[in-house]
Amino acid sequence: MNDMINVTRSSLPDYEEFCREIADIWDSHWLTNMGAKHQQLEAALAEYWGAENVALLTNGHLALENIIQAMELRGEIITSPYTFASTTHAIVRCGCTPVFCDIEPENFTMDPAKIEALITDRTVAILPIHVYGNLCDTEAIEAIAKKHGLKVIYDGAHSFGVKKNGVSSACFGDATMFSFHATKVFNTIEGGALCFRDKALKQRINDLKNFGIHGPESVPFVGGNAKMNEFCAAMGLCNLRHLDAWLQQRKAVVERYRQHLEGVPGLKLNREQPGVESNYAYFPVVFDGYKYDRDQVFARLNENGIVARKYFYPVTNAFECYAGLPGFDPALTPVASDVAARVLTLPLYPELPLEDVDRICRLILD
Ligand SMILES: *Cc1c(COP(=O)(O)O)cnc(C)c1O
Repeated sequence: MNDMINVTRSSLPDYEEFCREIADIWDSHWLTNMGAKHQQLEAALAEYWGAENVALLTNGHLALENIIQAMELRGEIITSPYTFASTTHAIVRCGCTPVFCDIEPENFTMDPAKIEALITDRTVAILPIHVYGNLCDTEAIEAIAKKHGLKVIYDGAHSFGVKKNGVSSACFGDATMFSFHATKVFNTIEGGALCFRDKALKQRINDLKNFGIHGPESVPFVGGNAKMNEFCAAMGLCNLRHLDAWLQQRKAVVERYRQHLEGVPGLKLNREQPGVESNYAYFPVVFDGYKYDRDQVFARLNENGIVARKYFYPVTNAFECYAGLPGFDPALTPVASDVAARVLTLPLYPELPLEDVDRICRLILD
């Protein structure tokens, strides 16, 4: 009864299925550098997303750094601090300056009404996050970007499998980054991808992820190493076959949580977005005037072997590595700071037994 329940559990294909998938690697002895599995997975994702231009990378973080470099962005990038460390770090590590826009409180995504006041003559791009798989207001954001000549790169790490009016989350803006980390809805152990509009970026991204090497005697870019290896691509090929079934299981878990928690005074659940097909990636609850605060519920669950997560807390503009830098002030993004102080994401993965969901909810409610 009291086995630990973690906030997530990595999805795996059958052991035999993975063994069959990697068998060819023993024939080819080709382990990395854009091998057959890499090509197959790239093509499979392009088809899954209904997109033309897809590139695989070692992880989501390096995908973000790669696309910032491939677009040669230099200057200010408007982003939001209600995200994983990676988003803000990628901007800074690429020599750009993050400018923090607040979020809107319903979907936790960038508030488009607050973007234009942040645009200066140094602004080059907007980098919003599809938080918890909730899609940003892509129309509003892209209209602002068009008006001011800015690029739009989405951090879509949470949004694999999400669609808006039938269109994949991969197909908005100039580019979207995905993370295929072990904890994500779709994983390649570690991995990431870019889906992008401009076909001409493909070669540059491929060069950048391979040390900037274009040919045996040509190195036009200061690139790093961000290639996806064949074993990771093979895991992706297997996991993609199971994705629809996993999403259905996730949906059942989310519905069970909603049955217990919907309408309870002081609990704010993630609002479903009209026209959006969810991937049921996370189940955040915001404790807003509830009889217990977030930290009390977190502690109570923990005492009972249930690991929930304060995701995202702290906000990235409050990180100590940025302390004292101009613009890094959580008070400038009050909605993000407030949500971060109250939010808990509850355990959610495809095989989470519904009885465990019942037990988690009883601990929150009793
Ligand atoms: C997971 C995640 C990343 C980083 O992806 P990795 O594949 O772990 O490098 C970036 N942004 C967000 C919002 C994430 O959740």
